[in-house]
Amino acid sequence: MDDSIALQELKKALGERVQTDKEALYRSSFDGMRLAFEHEAAIQIDHPDQVGVVLRLANEYKVPVTTRGAGTSLTGSASPARGGWVLKLDQLKDLRIDPLNRFAHAGPGVVVTDLQNAARDEGLFYPPDPSSLRYCTIGGNIACNAGGMRCLKYGVTRDYVVSLQGYLPTGEFVTWASDTRKFATGYNVRDLWVGSEGTLGVVTGATLKLIPAPETTWSLLAAFPTERDALTAVEEVVRKRIGPAILEFLDRPSVRGAEAAFQQPIFDGLPGRSLLIIELDGSENEVATAKEKLLSWARDHAEAHRAAPDPASAEKLWDIRRACSSAMFELGDSKLNEDVVVPLHRQADLIDEVEKIRAKFQVAIGVFGHAGDGNLHVNIMHHREDPVGSRRAREALGELMQVVVDLKGAISGEHGVGLAKTPFLTLQLGEAEIATMKKIKEVFDPNGILNPGKLFEPFEVWDKKKEVFRFPWDHR
Ligand SMILES: Cc1cc2nc3c(=O)[nH]c(=O)nc-3n(C[C@H](O)[C@H](O)[C@H](O)COP(=O)(O)OP(=O)(O)OC[C@H]3O[C@@H](n4cnc5c(N)ncnc54)[C@H](O)[C@@H]3O)c2cc1C
Repeated sequence: MDDSIALQELKKALGERVQTDKEALYRSSFDGMRLAFEHEAAIQIDHPDQVGVVLRLANEYKVPVTTRGAGTSLTGSASPARGGWVLKLDQLKDLRIDPLNRFAHAGPGVVVTDLQNAARDEGLFYPPDPSSLRYCTIGGNIACNAGGMRCLKYGVTRDYVVSLQGYLPTGEFVTWASDTRKFATGYNVRDLWVGSEGTLGVVTGATLKLIPAPETTWSLLAAFPTERDALTAVEEVVRKRIGPAILEFLDRPSVRGAEAAFQQPIFDGLPGRSLLIIELDGSENEVATAKEKLLSWARDHAEAHRAAPDPASAEKLWDIRRACSSAMFELGDSKLNEDVVVPLHRQADLIDEVEKIRAKFQVAIGVFGHAGDGNLHVNIMHHREDPVGSRRAREALGELMQVVVDLKGAISGEHGVGLAKTPFLTLQLGEAEIATMKKIKEVFDPNGILNPGKLFEPFEVWDKKKEVFRFPWDHR
């Protein structure tokens, strides 16, 4: 097929950075949700100015553009749902640490662990730590307002964004806020871009806040007979003002999955328990004080507890926790991976509701996650080749979303909406709220070229063979 005029112009402007070969198009056709879309070109950006060139052309010819970091999004937010061009920013890896101001200046393609290591070399700390931190990029983290295990004490990505540079969908360069600790000049568009899932602009540079690195850490594993026991005990950690940096929960199916994946028990001699993994950090004194309080809490509330004897053992515990996501595949080959969040005092109720959903729809569900924040990953597992089981999983998901909203929670705490949660957006947001968001989108992107098909339109795919519309999860 002949190139479109827009593509000819793009190739003239950016030469071999414009990739149209099968392999490159395949690699940029899907993200962590594994739903692939045909598109015309992938553009490997190696200088921020090229982003302006691409967007000006795309806006002139009304070509859809999807920005991509590492493509680890679990919602389809980085997949080119409307075709067009994929803007790949993973090579924009400039990184500079400013120890005096405690800032990091990062290109959007910097991988989170690289930023954390560079900060650590200066005795500083960048806390946001999504479990994908070894691959995902700062640009993607900003666009999704990524969370992670340490959010409990340290907050989410938004809390570390000082200023942003980038391009409007119409191709103009903009800077939101300045590299100062305070900024009260005009609307706070910086924070509007954070979490906008690449629909309002393209980030080409960010200044991020760093904090002093904690002197020491200490980790504890606590076992409970039931999930309700574990989640009720979480409330006591908060009431006692112990202030851990991390407080993670694993239900019994997740523990079984992780044990199968690692081929060893997590809590030796006490199988089949729900677990909490807790980390304290801070100065030696702070940790010593919190440790006493935490041990007293464990004696009162846990069936058994065990401290990690050394940093290597603690790291092993965190590896196990990070492996929970892939361990879910012990329960089925396809996953509806949710990141719901409820008020802390409703977590035990959520787990009870999950148990009812499990029984009602006969589906395997594993729940783990950031219990200190009320943010739990509910993973509804099914087998791709089993249409009845897959349908039940989809129905279970609909029920889960309604339960979360009824518990006054949110359907996404950190992954965002992307494509995956579009069918449930109206459960969470009212007409006036959605209409306001759409107006904001129009102001930034009058031609609707940037990441179209995400957030607002309930997503479905036309299945040619069966002549039916299918929702995205049918395809995993
Ligand atoms: C195993 C696993 C564990 C995970 N754990 C967590 C977790 O603990 N916490 C969490 O929050 N998330 C988690 N995620 C989800 C995902 O890693 C995050 O959403 C991450 O922020 C995505 O970064 P990325 O570089 O892969 O972005 P991509 O997937 O490439 O893109 C994600 C979104 O950001 C947009 N985008 C990317 N770069 C830019 C840019 N420069 N400017 C504007 N928009 C841009 C894209 O258009 C898309 O909408 C996990 C994913 C996996 C696979």
